Amino acid sequence: MAEQEASGLQVLLQTLQSSLDRESILAILQLLGDLLSVGTDRRIRYMISKGGSEALLRTLVDTARTASPDYVILLPLFRLLAKVGLRDKKFGQKALELEALDVTLILARKNLCHSQNLLHCLWALRVFASSVTTGAMLGINGAMELLLKVITPYTQKHTQVIRTAAEVLAALLKSKSNSRRAVNRSYVPRLLRLHQDWHSHDTAHSFVPIRRALLLCLKHIAKLRSGREAFLAAQGMEILFSIIQNCLDDQSLEPVISIVLQILRQCYPKSPLPLLTTSSTYSFPVPGIVTSEAPRVLTEEDYEDDSEEEEDKDSDSEDVKEEDDDLETDVNKLSSKPGLDRPEEELMQYKAMCLELSCSFEELESKPGDDLNSDETEYANHHHIPTAASPKGLFLNKDQISGGQEKEVLVQNSLLSRVKMGRSSIHLTSKRGPGMNSYRNVHSNDPGIDSSGSDVSDIQASFLEDAGDMDAISCPRISASFSNSTKTRETAEFIDQLLQTHLKPMVFHDPYLYMAKARRTRSVADFTMMAFPDFWGHCPPLSAQPMLQRKCGVQRIKILEDVRRLIQPSDIINKVVFSLDEPWPLQDTASDCLQFFSAFESGNLRKAIQVREFEYDLLVNADVNSTQHQQWFYFKVSGMRAAVPYRFNIINCEKPNSQFNYGMQLTLYSVKEALLGRPTWVRTGYDICYYKNHYRQRTAGAGAASGKCYYTLTFAVIFPHAEDACYLAYHYPYTYSALMTHLDILGKSVNRKQVYFRQEVLCQTLGGNSCPLVTITAMPESDRADHLEQFRQRPYQVITARVHPGESNASWVMKGTLEFLVSSDPVARLLRENFIFKIIPMLNPDGVINGNHRCSLRGEDLNRQWLSPSAHLQPTIYHAKGLLHYLGSIGRRPTVFCDFHGHSQKKNVFLYGCSIKETLWQAEATVGTSNLSEDVSYRTLPKILDKLAPAFTMSSCSFLVEKSRASTARVVVWREMGVSRSYTMESSYCGCNQGPYQGLQFGTGELEEMGAMFCLGLLVLELKSGSCSHQLLTRAAALLNAEEESLDFYLQRQLLICLLPKSLMALLHSKWTPKDPLPWVGVVTAEPRKEINFRLLSFEMDFKEEYFGNWKT
Ligand SMILES: [Zn+2]
Repeated sequence: MAEQEASGLQVLLQTLQSSLDRESILAILQLLGDLLSVGTDRRIRYMISKGGSEALLRTLVDTARTASPDYVILLPLFRLLAKVGLRDKKFGQKALELEALDVTLILARKNLCHSQNLLHCLWALRVFASSVTTGAMLGINGAMELLLKVITPYTQKHTQVIRTAAEVLAALLKSKSNSRRAVNRSYVPRLLRLHQDWHSHDTAHSFVPIRRALLLCLKHIAKLRSGREAFLAAQGMEILFSIIQNCLDDQSLEPVISIVLQILRQCYPKSPLPLLTTSSTYSFPVPGIVTSEAPRVLTEEDYEDDSEEEEDKDSDSEDVKEEDDDLETDVNKLSSKPGLDRPEEELMQYKAMCLELSCSFEELESKPGDDLNSDETEYANHHHIPTAASPKGLFLNKDQISGGQEKEVLVQNSLLSRVKMGRSSIHLTSKRGPGMNSYRNVHSNDPGIDSSGSDVSDIQASFLEDAGDMDAISCPRISASFSNSTKTRETAEFIDQLLQTHLKPMVFHDPYLYMAKARRTRSVADFTMMAFPDFWGHCPPLSAQPMLQRKCGVQRIKILEDVRRLIQPSDIINKVVFSLDEPWPLQDTASDCLQFFSAFESGNLRKAIQVREFEYDLLVNADVNSTQHQQWFYFKVSGMRAAVPYRFNIINCEKPNSQFNYGMQLTLYSVKEALLGRPTWVRTGYDICYYKNHYRQRTAGAGAASGKCYYTLTFAVIFPHAEDACYLAYHYPYTYSALMTHLDILGKSVNRKQVYFRQEVLCQTLGGNSCPLVTITAMPESDRADHLEQFRQRPYQVITARVHPGESNASWVMKGTLEFLVSSDPVARLLRENFIFKIIPMLNPDGVINGNHRCSLRGEDLNRQWLSPSAHLQPTIYHAKGLLHYLGSIGRRPTVFCDFHGHSQKKNVFLYGCSIKETLWQAEATVGTSNLSEDVSYRTLPKILDKLAPAFTMSSCSFLVEKSRASTARVVVWREMGVSRSYTMESSYCGCNQGPYQGLQFGTGELEEMGAMFCLGLLVLELKSGSCSHQLLTRAAALLNAEEESLDFYLQRQLLICLLPKSLMALLHSKWTPKDPLPWVGVVTAEPRKEINFRLLSFEMDFKEEYFGNWKT
């Protein structure tokens, strides 16, 4: 049948070309038309493959070249050409070769007054022009002039012809040579006038396609610099801006609006950032650094970007593209283990960091706690050891502070009771909206008013009035003395008074200790002030805040407001009100503008420009010794009015997209709120969006990315009080001084008889700060030899965090981990008794201190330095790696290595691990790998966390090894140290789109909980392992049993399912004797034993299925 059809078609096509008989040509055209009018594209493509395009084009040329062309043939022929040409990618080229362009143009010219014939010619031209080369050829032959004759001002006649002509013209202008010709022949003002005319007359929007086609012509021309210049000269910005102003809300004009916005963005004159240099304000003399480049004089050439295609997507897809070509496909690189990166004898220095392996118990007892110099500062001894799992609202009551005995954590507060989905009470309040601590104006749709004003009378008014001055608190470095200056003494007294009057004790925080720690912290700019929130402390809000609902079209409105600066500059102030770069004081406090400040730890505001009365452009500092990585921000604002929406634009962001487009809000801390008893960072801001702006990077010689784009983060804030001091940040800040304070308090709060907690210095950083290393385990049961042996044989777990300073979420997760591990939660106790935790909570203290987003003081990403770190250049990485090497060299490599990070593009919490097989499968590079064996146990921990932790999801986990990640902690620890469970744990800056926290943004409480859940995951991982001791299994079982009364049935099942059948079966078959109660069975006695086993087995099946289901074929 197909063959018959084929030969039949070929005969038809041949006859069409050779026949001179009018009737048979018409018959064939009729037949072809019938053939193609039914059926699918496949038929057309089939005809193309059999030479259909050529046959039709030849017939066209032959027919058109006669003295009086026969339109009875030509019209059906053009219709066929238009249909076939649409599907034939080489159609333009074929038409060019067969000289069909000229004849069609000639026919069109002849038919300027005959609209039906003309329309048919235009259809053919439209398909010819789909090839840029053919389009250029048509341009040379005068097609554009012809089309402009056809495109008349507004009329209601022959609109189909006009529309098609405009579409052909737009297609022709995709060719740069045509665009250039169009500029030279002053088409830009003509097209603008035409569009204006159609726009003003077409009030019923009947001819939107014509208006759109005219705009498309302008858009293509505007890709050329000369085109943009012509557009600006013709007042294009003003014309299109006024057009769009009046029709933004008209849905039927959407096709027009989106192109207008693209043109406005494209033509907005590109300029460098309003900075003398993009190099960081701070530079630090470190070894081996290349001096930053001097700015050079710029020309417009620097901003030429002809290839740039600006799209006005109201960014709705947040899928992050995975790049397969980044996958490591070299099996040798994946599976070979490189040698040691340093002389072996060097490893011995780390013996001193593993005192738990060598010291006798007595020595430990007599020399307790940390090896760091202890602080003179006195502060309350915290006997109570709360956990991250404790109920929120972390104020201690008086009994707890005044030295009550450590109590067993109540079962219902223990971590187990908060396991995923086990307890609906965890999030009962959370979906109802922001809690009482969250200022009411955070909603996009409800900017609200100063809601807390009525509370003010409760507090001594004088303190609240002072909030503006209470901003950053002076904190002289240790060399300076308080008594040297009356001002500092007054400040100190003032602070004392404030603390006594207003501060409620906060768990694991102490302002005096913080001040002492901050004094020791060394910053490049020599900060002498502390930010109030870091000093005073933060309590998580009582409930999580929902994500912000994005208002439709908000990005367009913001972009148009930016364009308005150019077009209607009358209300533009453009006054620099804050700058790190200007030596003179800029802020005059008398004026009505906001005051800014950020010279404190982790602060990084560089410049603030008042744009309009209540709008400010802000620039954040680049990482020290770098010209880039602007994303993190943290600064203070004061001098605000009440109930006024202020708009802020951070105009030098660098990442191409952000969770700020998908429901994330920034964080705000109000000093007045803190003094009113609500010392809380809350999510705030509305009308938030993140988009590419008109600023471009200076091109600065070789190596620099030329024409790099910047992005604007814009948000509006209504401050909770007038004349307040408020702090705004990218995410909940967590400074180095906060960590040092926290570690000290942790160390002093542990029950030394039970908890072995040692804090020491891993190394000094380039900036002269100590990088802390923490060891946590349980004290040996006694000093008996077998107990000491058990103590020393505990497997290691190594956890690190905050190598990227902007990822403060990682520190909050780490805070949760640390607090949980020293807590009296029964799970924590089991963990301590079975593992030794080596924790480096902040791998990049210098970056954190100096307000960097990504880098160290050398301006380099420390998580790309693990392959060959240098002791002098990347000391924290060098020694972290050294410690891991040492553990490996004595046969004690960790069971799990995990580096905590923050993720700016995705939601939830998830792990990245390493798998050779999954990487090769993903890259479809599986040749010769069939006998490669790989233990799949790297998937177990994420599977467990998926079951346990509310914020965690397996679905975002990935186990691929990318070439670009070859020098990260995860990949190096996996390859060089052979730790198969080597992970990066990523926590979203935003929140969750699954599980119990779905639709909520993370608060610090949720992040801390994740840190604790990670620990629980480690315990379950051990319970599931074949090597798990009978004793641990029994104790874990007892724990579950003890919780029985408080755990609901569903939760019991969740936990039950977490326990690997292997261990349970082993227990059932070998170790379990009828005398021992079998606790797991106990909790589900309602069900017959058989069914339990069946469930467990089917769980194992699922596990495997999911695993193998991931193999792509
Ligand atoms: Zn990171």
